[in-house]
Amino acid sequence: MSAKIIDGKKVAKLTRKEVRQDVDDWMDDGHRAPFLQVVLVGTNPASDVYVGAKTRACKDVGIETDTMRLPDTISAKELKATIQELNEDDTVDGILVQLPLPNHLSAHDVIESIDYRKDVDGFHPMNVGRLTVGQPSFRSCTPAGIIELFKHYSIPTKGKHAVVVGASNIVGRPISILLNKESGEYGKATTTVCHKYTKDLTQHTISADILVVAAGQPNLIKPEMVKEGVVVIDVGINRVADETKDKGYTLMGDCHFESVKEKASWITPVPGGVGPMTVAMLMKNTLLAAKNSIYPQ
Ligand code: NAD
Repeated sequence: MSAKIIDGKKVAKLTRKEVRQDVDDWMDDGHRAPFLQVVLVGTNPASDVYVGAKTRACKDVGIETDTMRLPDTISAKELKATIQELNEDDTVDGILVQLPLPNHLSAHDVIESIDYRKDVDGFHPMNVGRLTVGQPSFRSCTPAGIIELFKHYSIPTKGKHAVVVGASNIVGRPISILLNKESGEYGKATTTVCHKYTKDLTQHTISADILVVAAGQPNLIKPEMVKEGVVVIDVGINRVADETKDKGYTLMGDCHFESVKEKASWITPVPGGVGPMTVAMLMKNTLLAAKNSIYPQ
């Protein structure tokens, strides 16, 4: 069997088109354009790429945006004071602090200083907590995008065994919660969450009906680790040195794509799978923030 491809680029394009229509309708009703403030601390080439993609997506859907570039010497106090100003600015609907932050800054502290009603990344403990108990919240964009992919391709997860490799706060943990808790056909899975201390990873991955991999380890998942017919969502984005490429690297996921796809029923490519959905869901969240849809005032 060769897997069918879950085309995140295509689904993201459709999602962005819907958001564009919703933004137009919102503005036709007399509202200003939604506004996303991006905060970028220090210099990190990968962050620049991600922020560039988010900025282009905003333009595409009619969301206004600005990127505030702050030096990597900024203190936690100064950064939090800047965020507080954004919290209090009624013209700012969404605030996104691009991660990772320089080592002297605690991402937890900084995220917690964002007004949870503007936390369009869905990383604030208020949003994570509400997600966990099934209350409306801003959903972390990557996990929310994965659920959209299941819905788009009518891949039900109810009653299935979903194995998540990676337990980070931004991907692994929230997708395990959504897969386990979400009502209807695209949730209600039995979930296993693995991390780098998991003994015998294969023992878990081999029993997965749905396998979500977000470890940041190229070629971690090999065909002998999965069963025939598994649905594979590869979240990993790894820059692997490649002299044949102009940029000097190739982007790879966490799965050995060519061989795993021969056993899977569905699989996401890297690039072009989960990544574009993450950006599309950020657009959705920013519009929800502008409309006060999650936290009505
Ligand atoms: P992270 O480093 O915060 O977390 C990695 C997790 O994987 C940890 O829980 C760690 O214990 C686990 N892990 C690492 N090695 C492992 C191993 N050998 N076996 C089992 N578990 C292992 O990373 P993150 O922020 O969650 O990102 C994970 C990957 O997903 C990265 O490649 C990142 O670039 C990518 N990512 C992609 C998107 C997207 O939109 N496609 C969004 C966010 C992150």
